[in-house]
Amino acid sequence: MSEQKSALAESHDTLVAEEEAVALTSELIRIDTTNTGDPATVVGERAAAEYVAEKLAEVGYETTYVESGAKGRGNVIARLAGADPSRGALLVHGHLDVVPADPAEWSVHPFSGAVQDDYVWGRGAVDMKDMLGMTLATARRFKRDGIVPPRDLIFAFLADEEAGGEYGAQWLVENRADLFEGATEAISEVGGFSITVKDGVRAYMIETAEKGIAWLRLRARGRAGHGSMVHEDNAVTKLTQAVARLGTHKFPVVLTDSVKEFFAAVTELTGMEFDEADLDGSVAKLGAVARMVGATLRDTANPTMLNAGYKANVIPSVAEAVVDCRVLPGRREAFERELDEILGPDIEREYITNLPSVETTFDGALVDAMTASIIAEDPGAVTLPYMLSGGTDAKSFQSLGIRCFGFAPLRLPADLDFSALFHGVDERVPVDALKFGTRVLDRFLRSS
Ligand SMILES: [Zn+2]
Repeated sequence: MSEQKSALAESHDTLVAEEEAVALTSELIRIDTTNTGDPATVVGERAAAEYVAEKLAEVGYETTYVESGAKGRGNVIARLAGADPSRGALLVHGHLDVVPADPAEWSVHPFSGAVQDDYVWGRGAVDMKDMLGMTLATARRFKRDGIVPPRDLIFAFLADEEAGGEYGAQWLVENRADLFEGATEAISEVGGFSITVKDGVRAYMIETAEKGIAWLRLRARGRAGHGSMVHEDNAVTKLTQAVARLGTHKFPVVLTDSVKEFFAAVTELTGMEFDEADLDGSVAKLGAVARMVGATLRDTANPTMLNAGYKANVIPSVAEAVVDCRVLPGRREAFERELDEILGPDIEREYITNLPSVETTFDGALVDAMTASIIAEDPGAVTLPYMLSGGTDAKSFQSLGIRCFGFAPLRLPADLDFSALFHGVDERVPVDALKFGTRVLDRFLRSS
């Protein structure tokens, strides 16, 4: 039988976990896990996975190290048994890799993990070594202190999220689903952070949906020829016209449930109305999150790469482009029809990456536990659902029937442009936010 810990001992343990979360985040940033998208150049995932495994083993976890489909693509999974084994497990997952960073552009070295001016600085500070640090610190505390969560917890630290998870979550789901056996719900990035909506009232945005990812390669074919002659079948001309049409096209506004719920919650909080006739205008008034929310009103298509030709006076027979398309839940077929109309019959298209959208409802015991643990640490705060315009490993875990949420809690200063820090220069996270998030995560994992 366990003894009741004194309140003093509890608060000491809480402080230890908070300090650990800061130190672990900083140390994880120092392990360069740059993922360029080209598997040949990926570094550091193995070292980061081994670091995590060591930190877990140190307090008594049994860990499983798995390389997902290629050498060095390290993943670490550990379980903590809960009080009620008949309940489905809760998966807490995060990715070890980060996008590249050019030190020349930064005020501190992006892989320094510097702790200065009340921030932890570096690539991954918000995406998502912050959450890894908080998760690791909480997992260590639970094991050290013999805390038994209500149900099994599965901690997963994963490779390759930044390139779609082909060598990470997607591979594990396809080849090692046994590691996630019994999991019914999951939390990870990108949600649980605060925005200050009115008179200091903070709203914590919990991700309940994600757009689908459709990276398309477009190809036009024509007749090769000499650049000095009259030529009516030029692949470059055909392709660029189609790319320009698609890049400037505005897909129709379609309000999905999570976006409607988000608007309703903001209206209730602030009185701000979202006029259907001018949604773009209304969303623009949301401030720092306008870019994010604006992208969830409609499908988008942004041309990102062009490739054709090899000499100034040679007309090539093929021209190619890549377009980054993001598709709302339920819109895939309509999107493809519209796409084909815009491109016309002369353009071939193929998917380079084709990942589904994600959507779940903002209700149930897990959502209640998120809200309660936030409010316990930030009285007067509210939580609201939102759709992420980007994608995460939730896409893979959804295919196992797991209900996925973005919940990596951070209480942020009102004037911090948080969404700009993702993949941005001088990415950093407030030390105070990490400590707050660790306390919230602790409460949440004890009560969910
Ligand atoms: Zn991320």
